[in-house]
Amino acid sequence: MSNETVKVKCIGMDEEGKGIIKVRGREVHVPYLIEGETAVVEVSQKKNFVSARAVKIEEKSKYRAAPKCPHFYQCGGCQLQHMSYQGQSEFKQNIIEKLMKRYQKINPILTMEDPYHYRNKMLSTMAHDEKGRVVSGIYEEYSHKVIPIEECAIQDRCADEIIASVREIMRTYKMKAYDEDREQGFLRHVLIKTGFVSGEIMVVLVVASPIFPGKNNFVSTLLKKHPEITTIVMNVNNRKTSMVLGETEKVLYGKGYIEDTLCGCVFQISPKSFYQINPIQTEVLYEKAIEMAGLKGSETVLDAYCGIGTISLIASKGAKHVIGVELNKDAVKDAVKNAKRNKITNTEFYNEDAGQFMVRLAEARQKIDTVFMDPPRGGSDERFLASLVKLGPKKVIYISCNPVTQERDLKFLTAKGYKVEEIQPVDMFPQTFHVECIVKLSRQING
Ligand code: SAH
Repeated sequence: MSNETVKVKCIGMDEEGKGIIKVRGREVHVPYLIEGETAVVEVSQKKNFVSARAVKIEEKSKYRAAPKCPHFYQCGGCQLQHMSYQGQSEFKQNIIEKLMKRYQKINPILTMEDPYHYRNKMLSTMAHDEKGRVVSGIYEEYSHKVIPIEECAIQDRCADEIIASVREIMRTYKMKAYDEDREQGFLRHVLIKTGFVSGEIMVVLVVASPIFPGKNNFVSTLLKKHPEITTIVMNVNNRKTSMVLGETEKVLYGKGYIEDTLCGCVFQISPKSFYQINPIQTEVLYEKAIEMAGLKGSETVLDAYCGIGTISLIASKGAKHVIGVELNKDAVKDAVKNAKRNKITNTEFYNEDAGQFMVRLAEARQKIDTVFMDPPRGGSDERFLASLVKLGPKKVIYISCNPVTQERDLKFLTAKGYKVEEIQPVDMFPQTFHVECIVKLSRQING
């Protein structure tokens, strides 16, 4: 292991929001350093692994800001609270510019008016501190130690209050938090989901055993303190695993799910279903995607990687028919339910790998006019993209939470006759380095 301290200027930023410096010709990435700043940086090398830490910022960027959250430097959930929101937005705009400007000019990123407390989902892990007190928070990186967090700058405020009450009730009833190493104790995590429009609140208690001593007292005390809670679910996870939720569930109060409204459609959200975590920006994202598609009412639309069918249902109002495909079978069940709930009859959903499904559609020479695709961080695969080209829809609206894989896929599609018409970054995750981007492509040649 070697250590050295250098005084350097930060010459750029990587995709994770770390500052880039050069030390003897070699690029080093420094957390919490901003482009343009001069700083004293400690660089350590252990075998091939180089890490760096800014010890003192000598010349500050105009974008440097005091983090709002006292846990910012330990928690790791946010990476950009040391930058003003203006600075964060420019950083995200630059990421997309660098990657995609050769295809088309980039629209200004759609930002949030209030970039705090936007999350509708909060997960807290329960533990005891060294004095045996109940704490809740998140795991420290690469360890089983829980960093206590009492207030979060990006979660819905009511979730912090409910978690505080859970800690208090645990103390009153002497309930033990689960200890991963010793495999002892009871309450592992508390998951809270809130409906932004409906105001409904679901509390999921993830426990290590199906036998819940004092269950009725626990539930009634929690409800007395928080009458705003609309449902409480017990989820049993008795495995040694980093997965949060187990298989078995029991509704302790209410209907076992919450509902929320997005772009005029109502969605049912159960403990396990995937749902976008920033409701305000999700509407902004979907509205822009639908606008880009310019649906006239006569189209057959494919929604690939459709999740619980959000885009499908919203698009169905402007199209003749929508086909959704999704790998997760629970999400597909939710999509079917959601269509019924909204009395929508021109959608159908398939539980299949999107790439495989596309091959079948292409073989069957199915006519598709418009494709929405919203793949996970890894992007799409060549099988999907090759079949997409074969199907030859006039328009493709590609939504992605990882611009690097999105750009890789754009390279493929633009080489096969598609043209990028519009690029729209959206800030779905303020205070973090994540950036969402919608790209509209249109077919240039007849395949
Ligand atoms: N469009 C939805 C979900 C996007 S998240 C929304 O906005 O809510 C990406 C989705 O892709 C997830 O639901 C995930 O389960 C699904 N997925 C991942 N790999 C897939 C594959 N190979 N085929 C189909 N769906 C896949």
